[in-house]
Amino acid sequence: MNYRRLGKAGVKVSELSLGSWVTFGEQISDDVAEALMIKAYDGGINFFDNAEGYASGRSELVMGKILRKLGWPRDTWLIASKVFFGSAEHPQKPNQYGLSRKHVFEACHAALKRLQVDYLDLFFCHRSDPETPIEETVRAMSDLIAQGKVLYWGTSVWKAHEIMEAWSVARESHLVPPTMEQPYYNLLQRDRVELEYARLYDRIGLGLTVWSPLASGLLTGKYSDGLPKDSRLGLENYGWLRDWVLKPERLEKVRRLGKLAGELGLSPSVLAIAWCLKNPHVSSVILGASKVAQLEENLQASAAAEKLTPELLKQIDEMMGTKPKETSNADNH
Ligand code: NDP
Repeated sequence: MNYRRLGKAGVKVSELSLGSWVTFGEQISDDVAEALMIKAYDGGINFFDNAEGYASGRSELVMGKILRKLGWPRDTWLIASKVFFGSAEHPQKPNQYGLSRKHVFEACHAALKRLQVDYLDLFFCHRSDPETPIEETVRAMSDLIAQGKVLYWGTSVWKAHEIMEAWSVARESHLVPPTMEQPYYNLLQRDRVELEYARLYDRIGLGLTVWSPLASGLLTGKYSDGLPKDSRLGLENYGWLRDWVLKPERLEKVRRLGKLAGELGLSPSVLAIAWCLKNPHVSSVILGASKVAQLEENLQASAAAEKLTPELLKQIDEMMGTKPKETSNADNH
């Protein structure tokens, strides 16, 4: 396992990490969740990603119990939570979600309890909140850091100009600026990370923990011949995700990727994850898995990344046709 700095911050995260969305507290048993965490930790993963909204807080409860049971030294792993969507069942009351000072504080305290930890290493604003001034959220996050309840705060799926605004507000008010962003990034969707955020890496030293490197499993090739039973896009409550992810033009690209992977002696998953690792702005690629064998396979991506030469990366760009063009009207503030 290789370790990378979280942007310009001193803390180091494993370049592959493990997240719990859809799986922990929902799709998989607690025993499988525990086996996944052990496989991850033994493979060198030091960063576990979670959020208040995952399985309405149950994902954090499960992870917290496992961390407590396994008793790994606290200075050998990092835990992340995220605030915005709320953990209360719907319909939620007005202050049970969003980025107001009230909800940010309450979400942090609830996550600490569920995860059974004294502090969160990383705390993300899971989306931006048009109903809260950015200054209010920046101050709340900065205060949590001053209180020692959070070590680093960041954003997730924010526009570049929103991240810049948070950073500027923090600088002007002598508060702590955001350290990292958690965007969607994979071979099918590259614009935001490679184009829209381009200036933020040098300018504010932004780190990235990227999600869905396999586009919810699509890039494994498992959906090329229909919907396999027992797979995420076949889950009853995730029809919205299936509609978002499964598009005929994408399936053709996935087929081409599978062919190249075969020629390289890699699985499509390993190739897709290794490709994410080649972006030097990425601090960590967050993996998801519903089975230990999947994680075992995906952990091979670090070694595979070394095989991806500039010529191969160029071939992949041409084959997938998703490399952003400078003329794209991405939001460049
Ligand atoms: P992926 O795109 O890698 O999808 C993971 C899923 O793909 C697995 O659960 C499994 O689903 C399938 N899969 C993975 N590996 C294999 C394999 N080798 N062979 C076959 N199938 C495989 O990542 P996620 O979408 O899960 O995202 C990773 C993490 O990122 C999340 O857990 C979460 O922590 C974070 N995230 C953050 C978001 C944000 O807004 N900040 C949003 C979404 C995720 P199955 O077996 O069920 O088909």
